Amino acid sequence: MSSVAPQFGKTAVETYKHSGRVPVSGLILSLVVLVPIAVLLGAIYSGAVVWVPFIKLRGLLTCFYGGAIGGIVGTVCRAMKFRSTLFVSLMTLLIVAISYYASWASHQAFVIWRFDGMSDDVTASAIAGFLPQNIYEWASYIHDNGLWAMGKNGNAMSGIGVCVLWAVELLTILGVAWVSRATYGTAPFCENCNQWTQETRELAELPVSPDDPAWQKFAAGDLDAVKRLQVVQNVPQYVELQLAACGTCQESDYVSAVGITLVTDKEGEITKKEDDIVRHLHISRAQRDELQQFAVMMAEAVDAMDEETDEELKPYDPPQET
Ligand SMILES: [Zn+2]
Repeated sequence: MSSVAPQFGKTAVETYKHSGRVPVSGLILSLVVLVPIAVLLGAIYSGAVVWVPFIKLRGLLTCFYGGAIGGIVGTVCRAMKFRSTLFVSLMTLLIVAISYYASWASHQAFVIWRFDGMSDDVTASAIAGFLPQNIYEWASYIHDNGLWAMGKNGNAMSGIGVCVLWAVELLTILGVAWVSRATYGTAPFCENCNQWTQETRELAELPVSPDDPAWQKFAAGDLDAVKRLQVVQNVPQYVELQLAACGTCQESDYVSAVGITLVTDKEGEITKKEDDIVRHLHISRAQRDELQQFAVMMAEAVDAMDEETDEELKPYDPPQET
């Protein structure tokens, strides 16, 4: 890009990475919290599916169920100070597995309850249902005989059809849970103070291109490069500066630059597409303060620019003498 070779390479650049630490007490406590929730949610889901007669509503239930599991796992892993996205993912898989197992375990009991009414059989079936052998036999029974009246003529679905349905159901639960574990968040962790940093998402919205060559210098640690960015107007692109800072010490300050492209879909709805230019670049407290000042200045400049544009659009604006 430049004919002058840079003096400082990328080695000095330090971006945040999770330390990978998962506190043992946090791990145990998260299992103590999550396993009962998983069993309870699985049973509620199972009961709801037995009582809800509409296929579309069942699909919605499956999505809500997956979303609840993923959302709760992400939240608990954050509260228990997991600094490992791998562990958050593994925990999501484990809790989905436990919960889905519980939904199967309680299914037969709910079916007996619904069709034969509440009795001791329901309780017995709910307890025995947790044995793997009984789940296998129950699934085989449904596979061979069918259970739900899914077809238009009230035909029970069985055989390969019911297997496909189970596969789709499990994949839906897993998929939605996988996405919903994002409640874990993106903040860096301050290892000094044993706490999460606080994020400022929209510190500044810069009317510049994410492809501006100055960003490469910025990402390489030359923070002054933001002042050399070229302002571009009337394009559906801008760059958002984000900060993350420890509330206690001055050692965990980070800046991120995220390219935002506004995409208009066929229905005319605008969605934000985000691309990281640099994520969680470690900066000093002085540099953070400087960036905050810069953000204020930029905001004022952008406001002034917008006002100018508005004035140009006025139809009877007399020409200004300078
Ligand atoms: Zn700190």
